[in-house]
Amino acid sequence: MVIDVISLAVKLLRLGEVVVLPTETVYGLAASIKSGPALRKVFQIKGRPLLDPLIVHVLDYGWVPKWAHVDGLEERVKTLVDAFWPGPLTIVLQKKLAIPAIVTAGLDSVAIRCPAHEIFRKVLKAIKIPLAAPSANPFGCLSPTTAQHVKDSLGERVPLIVDGGQCNIGIESTILDMRASVPRILRPGAISASDIAQVIDAAVLDYSPVISSSAVPGQLKQHYSPNTRLVLVDAEKQLALLMNDPSREERAAFVYLKRPAECPYENDVFWLSDDGNNRVAARSLFSILQTLDRAGYDVIYCQKASPQGVGIAVNDRLTRAAAKFSS
Ligand code: AMP
Ligand code: MG
Repeated sequence: MVIDVISLAVKLLRLGEVVVLPTETVYGLAASIKSGPALRKVFQIKGRPLLDPLIVHVLDYGWVPKWAHVDGLEERVKTLVDAFWPGPLTIVLQKKLAIPAIVTAGLDSVAIRCPAHEIFRKVLKAIKIPLAAPSANPFGCLSPTTAQHVKDSLGERVPLIVDGGQCNIGIESTILDMRASVPRILRPGAISASDIAQVIDAAVLDYSPVISSSAVPGQLKQHYSPNTRLVLVDAEKQLALLMNDPSREERAAFVYLKRPAECPYENDVFWLSDDGNNRVAARSLFSILQTLDRAGYDVIYCQKASPQGVGIAVNDRLTRAAAKFSS
């Protein structure tokens, strides 16, 4: 049965169509990088500006030298991919001419990732062409971590959504620019700067929101937003104060980082993890926000993660999701 869906996905992609595929990070809207019409559809369907470059997905490191320059970097890149591929690490390298300009928004660099999800890998293995695949959601909105999220937002605009269950990581990949002598994190994700520094045994410039928002295409201050107003709070105590505020008239949802010991308004209380684990929080973040966004609340109050490891990435997504409501 799964094989049939994969054959269908490959057939559609070869015909210049787009297909929604699961990855371990979020669901992706995939197009063959050899199909101009499919690549244009990706931007149209998402409403994504053409200035926002796409990530190119490959089956393994063996595909990289055909599409990007690795001269002088091969040893370092190989060390990295041996440790983290397949997985949620995207590497930015100098692009080769073979990559169409629409994929990279005209930049001379290309972002490459090797996804871990078995379904995505089977499609790559069969089609033997890299796939560009941004998240399968309207531009600027919450990312999709289940096939249902995609159906709800893009359902009628895509010919095939392959259901691969809930995404295991739940937030987008870490993006690492490997072109400078000191590699730099352009977007935080499940793999942290210190994870990378340890593996390559060299310094890594950690993510800086100021640099990324102004100098990295597509890293916008406002992104990943729900329709419902989202307000961030730093500590559990603040959520409790808001919950018990007698003057509050709005219908509010309260999202804790970990399961609170006591919940007075049980129906409106949610948590990103049972025990405060940031990996679990990352996995449930978009799912919970997607559910609450459809539940008719006036406001969602959400506690930030502890700012270590993947918690930095969770807070990055939360900050950008709430930016729409803070001006
Ligand atoms: P996503 O929307 O999760 O697929 O991620 C795409 C993001 O990757 C873009 O918005 C950019 O921020 C980043 N990206 C893609 N290609 C490049 C590149 N060549 N250089 C720097 N960042 C890139
Ligand atoms: Mg996206």
